[in-house]
Amino acid sequence: MHASTDLRPDLHSLDSFASPDQTDPVLQDFLHRAADLLCHWIGAASQGVPLPTVRPQPDVAPMAAGLGMEGLLKDLQLVMDGAYQPSHPGALAHLDPPPLTATIAADLICAGLNNNLLAEELSPGLTDLEHQLCGWFCQRLGLPEQSGGVLASGGTLSNLMGLVVARTDAGVRDGVVLCSRDAHVSLQKAATVMGLADEALLQLPVDSDGGLNLAALESALVDLRRDGRCCLAVVATAGTTVRGAVDPLNGIASLCRREGVWLHVDAAIGGVFALWEPLASLMKGLHQADSITLNPQKLLGITKTSSMLLLRDRSKLRQAFSTGLPYMESPCGDDHGGELGLQGTRPAEVLKLWLGLRQLGIDGIGSVLESALERKAMLKQLLPEDRLLLMDGGLHLLALRPRQDDPAVSARWTEQTRQLLMRQGFLLSRPRYDDHHWLKVVLGNPHTTSSHLQQLAGLIRQQLTD
Ligand SMILES: *Cc1c(COP(=O)(O)O)cnc(C)c1O
Repeated sequence: MHASTDLRPDLHSLDSFASPDQTDPVLQDFLHRAADLLCHWIGAASQGVPLPTVRPQPDVAPMAAGLGMEGLLKDLQLVMDGAYQPSHPGALAHLDPPPLTATIAADLICAGLNNNLLAEELSPGLTDLEHQLCGWFCQRLGLPEQSGGVLASGGTLSNLMGLVVARTDAGVRDGVVLCSRDAHVSLQKAATVMGLADEALLQLPVDSDGGLNLAALESALVDLRRDGRCCLAVVATAGTTVRGAVDPLNGIASLCRREGVWLHVDAAIGGVFALWEPLASLMKGLHQADSITLNPQKLLGITKTSSMLLLRDRSKLRQAFSTGLPYMESPCGDDHGGELGLQGTRPAEVLKLWLGLRQLGIDGIGSVLESALERKAMLKQLLPEDRLLLMDGGLHLLALRPRQDDPAVSARWTEQTRQLLMRQGFLLSRPRYDDHHWLKVVLGNPHTTSSHLQQLAGLIRQQLTD
């Protein structure tokens, strides 16, 4: 194809779009140099702190004349200087681990391909890859033949889509959603977006291990039936946000079956444990769910965002979200990605998930999961239980606070300790739970060694005696 030059945009050069006629030297140079900056930034992580103290202020507005490569690289460097550093071994605050190398590369390729999962003709191979990879997850989790899923940009969206599918399946407009009081805040957003009544989200008590209390669930379900109110879904959480607790999935599934209610499992945190046979018992009963949210971005190191909604019966996605896409050719294989979920145009996030899992291999997945649990067990052992209240579920999260029952004491101690630890290169978070402030440690960072944990425990112990 020949385009006459006079139709091309009058840029300071045509460099801004890579040449379709040859390997573009500017693109090549740009990628090499940007990659160098990035590799350096990651490679210098342990010399800094997880949360940088400088906040560089790059110019925001584009200038009249566009910037060349040098200026753009300087801009990028400024942003990198002020960025949170997940590769620091002391980055232990949240479910945001360092990225796998393959997923960084795959994200770059994804940007270059610029395909669109909206429709098959805009992403032929990738649409199929997503279909197949969701199938692999379903199989691994023990879901039946007709299961399947769709990727979503975050667990908030996966949960919302799960509840919309549940409501479509129930064939009603309004109803109640039951979950534990430790369920994720995204369920409140889902209820709001779905236009459910204010009190539609019913939060039930948890047991001392942090799991949903079964007796409370049973009586809530019985009450709803007696009052003729519709229960849209029970949401069980497999890995709560503060302590990593897992609801009793088997017991909940039995109650749901008995009452004919949809079971959605928010396994954003814990679902990945079901991928590794020796630890799959942590997710016992997960295979009985009607829908499952799972976030590979939270522990496996897949670059953000990486979440998925898996359905026991895949056709229910189409029932809930199909609109017809009159401006698109019908797909020859699978459904259009845009008819399986809420998102229209979306990137091929499947690429990095697929490549990251291929890089780890099953054994690598196992070792990420096992080592996270080992770190948690080790830290727990290093902390003085006579002085500290330690709270965890079965997963790789640990929350702690002084034993004194005075909320003012825990508020002050956690704040002071967090600040001290930050200066020493450890970033913990400080959630509120049970009327107290806690320090929360997420042990999914593969760079955290036993000597880091010893140092961390030493600093915490010292804060208790001071
Ligand atoms: C993180 C999380 C979510 C939300 O996922 P995002 O990717 O942050 O939108 C939902 N549920 C649980 C239990 C979570 O931990």
